[in-house]
Amino acid sequence: VHEGILRRQSLRESAARTYARSLPIVPVRARGMTIEGADGRRYLDCLSGAGTLALGHNHPVVLEAIRKVIDSGAPLHVLDLATPVKDAFTTELFATLPRQFADNARIQFCGPAGTDAVEAAFKLVRAATGRSGLLAFTGAYHGMTAGALAASGGAEDVRVTRLPFPQNYRCPFGIGGERGAEIAARWTENLLDDPKGGAPAPAGMILEPVQGEGGVNPAPDSWMRRMREITETRSVPLIADEVQTGVGRTGAFWAIEHSGIVPDVMVLSKAIGGSLPLAVIVYRSELDTWQPGAHAGTFRGNQLAMAAGTATLAFVREHRLTERAATLGARMVARLQALATDHPSIGDVRGRGLMIGVELVDPEAAARGGSPEPPPAPVLAAAVQQECLRRGLIVELGGRQATVVRLLPPLTLTDEQATAVVDRLADALAAAER
Ligand code: PMP
Repeated sequence: VHEGILRRQSLRESAARTYARSLPIVPVRARGMTIEGADGRRYLDCLSGAGTLALGHNHPVVLEAIRKVIDSGAPLHVLDLATPVKDAFTTELFATLPRQFADNARIQFCGPAGTDAVEAAFKLVRAATGRSGLLAFTGAYHGMTAGALAASGGAEDVRVTRLPFPQNYRCPFGIGGERGAEIAARWTENLLDDPKGGAPAPAGMILEPVQGEGGVNPAPDSWMRRMREITETRSVPLIADEVQTGVGRTGAFWAIEHSGIVPDVMVLSKAIGGSLPLAVIVYRSELDTWQPGAHAGTFRGNQLAMAAGTATLAFVREHRLTERAATLGARMVARLQALATDHPSIGDVRGRGLMIGVELVDPEAAARGGSPEPPPAPVLAAAVQQECLRRGLIVELGGRQATVVRLLPPLTLTDEQATAVVDRLADALAAAER
């Protein structure tokens, strides 16, 4: 069965398929952090549906919430009409948001995917400001539809002004930490006050508090506060893309809480749907000047996703999984950093909560080339991913050259599972280095 499915899908599926290419497994059962393949092999899942599964696979409270909607006879497809299920979801979601934000906020249901909500955020701020430009950062990832793609790292679009995202490791200025972040902030200020000829005035700035796909780059809190100040004084709405960082993943319910900033718009998806597709924007009510129908779409009322999402948000809140993510994440990062002393190919270990990245480099190439900075090691990273898989561990790679091993376990992982993840990764690294 296993081999047949893999063979047929590799023949039929598009050349653009992604995860299926590097993870040749056929999942047939899953619970918590464990996935079982059609070949009977079991894996610890550190990808969690690209950071979606805050409670892991098939959590009983999520399954129960879905069953309850089905058994109640409620309509499953209602476009964006008001329902008790939507009412419960909105109430629970607003209860998790910082008070100063939620007390004066509106929500727009956007459709199934994060990218859909990013588009809505862009439309909203363009309508509210009457301006058309966007400010986005190097290394950003916001989605695959036209607007979101244009705002993602590497894209070229005349409407988007690209700003430097602060990075400790491989900082383009050779300066990390708070000081590097301050220099990146001043760069941004200068660019806004002395714009390039032809760049349209900005309708908004979009940022990820921790860049995920870009290789797990946490923004310093001081920099987040500077971005808030820079945008506020220039009346540019600030859009926080918390599609991946939300729902406890970084050790705060929302990653903006680390810095204490209040954005104008929050883009939310992934974990808020409890493993089913759901995406929304929540924003300051003064921005609500767009026209009815400005962001329509057939699939904005997924009742099962809302019910699964309500159950997930409530479970994370009631079981303090945010604190758990902070503690376990710190423990895993410490162990990974200790591992780096024996493995010079670990260039950097970074992250926040259970959003962790291990950047792999080639120290020998640096020595050969006489360069102080070891170059990224894409071949090694791909080998580590495959060695992880052989040891029953699913990990994804991120960063510009796919050299950052990304760990996004469910917030429900046990101490033993956290230990097993680091052990297996260490073994895989040793094997790939040979
Ligand atoms: N924003 C961020 C920060 C993301 O990580 C992603 C997905 N990885 C998206 C937006 C796009 O979400 P989707 O894939 O659901 O369109």
